[in-house]
Amino acid sequence: MRAVIFPQPGAMSYESVDDPTCGDQEVIIKVARSGVRGTDIHIFSNEYESDFPLIPGHEFGGEIVETGKDVTGLAIGDRVVVDPNLNCAHCDFCRDHQANHCASWEGIGVTRSGGFAEYVNVPARAAYTTPENFSATQMAFVEPLACVVWALRRIRVNPADRALIFGSGPMGLLLLQALRRNSAAEVVIVEKQAARLALARRFDASHTILADGGQQEELRDIVPKGFDIVVDATGILAVIESAFSHLKARGRFLQFGVAPMRASIKLKPYDVFRNDWTIVGSFALCQTTLPAIRWLESNAIDVEPLVSHQLPLSDFETVFNSFMAGETLKVHLAVDA
Ligand SMILES: [Zn+2]
Repeated sequence: MRAVIFPQPGAMSYESVDDPTCGDQEVIIKVARSGVRGTDIHIFSNEYESDFPLIPGHEFGGEIVETGKDVTGLAIGDRVVVDPNLNCAHCDFCRDHQANHCASWEGIGVTRSGGFAEYVNVPARAAYTTPENFSATQMAFVEPLACVVWALRRIRVNPADRALIFGSGPMGLLLLQALRRNSAAEVVIVEKQAARLALARRFDASHTILADGGQQEELRDIVPKGFDIVVDATGILAVIESAFSHLKARGRFLQFGVAPMRASIKLKPYDVFRNDWTIVGSFALCQTTLPAIRWLESNAIDVEPLVSHQLPLSDFETVFNSFMAGETLKVHLAVDA
């Protein structure tokens, strides 16, 4: 089959590799659509918990073409999406509702072969069947949306909270819609690309602010005492450091964007103490695939406008470079796109 490979950090190729073999408890999926994510840049740059060589791609859906002999409940022809976070179900974390911190955690497209390929083998327990009317685009958005569902469970939105999001990329725009669905009274979004702000307005952002250097003053004009919820969806250190200045007393800060693994920011512990602040992380997803499917099935979350490029997998290298340069929104790939 054809697949994208990261042979070692900082290198990529598109080549022919052996088809995956199906373990007794696995299924083989013919990938219909696979999304590129900022995390893939961190994986490429070895700033994540990846193994190399790697077939990346962790947000995808497709059709089952083979099932292992011990698999029940799934059949050839089923359209499925995948929760790429594999847990052992036996360690203390798994047995304490913390499967995303499993001591033997593995990530499809992170530590084992993922969806930037014609076929991928996954444990059957990681595959979820999708509704009949699901589009391929929706399938490839289940995983990112499941991360957003997990983030919202972590941050706990209260009725009429005022929220601020830094970053209007695909994840920021999903967070915007999700916060609107979760009873936030206002959702303000800050972004350096004007075109992305236009999309944020379409998704009912209360205010959209261009990050052109004057954003701090603009934000203080809108909400002088700060926001109940501040979300970083950029992973950019300078953005994260400045974001705290817009957090209200007793506010909750959500670190959603993935920053480089070894990077650090300056934060005054006194400010955290004096302001009753809560700082929340949300790592990937944690058994939130089903609610993400429900949100998409009910059309509560609109994902079609978030796709800027839908291309054949063979264009990966070109489009990945554009993606890294911030020139795209969501990029979707497929072998026969
Ligand atoms: Zn475990």
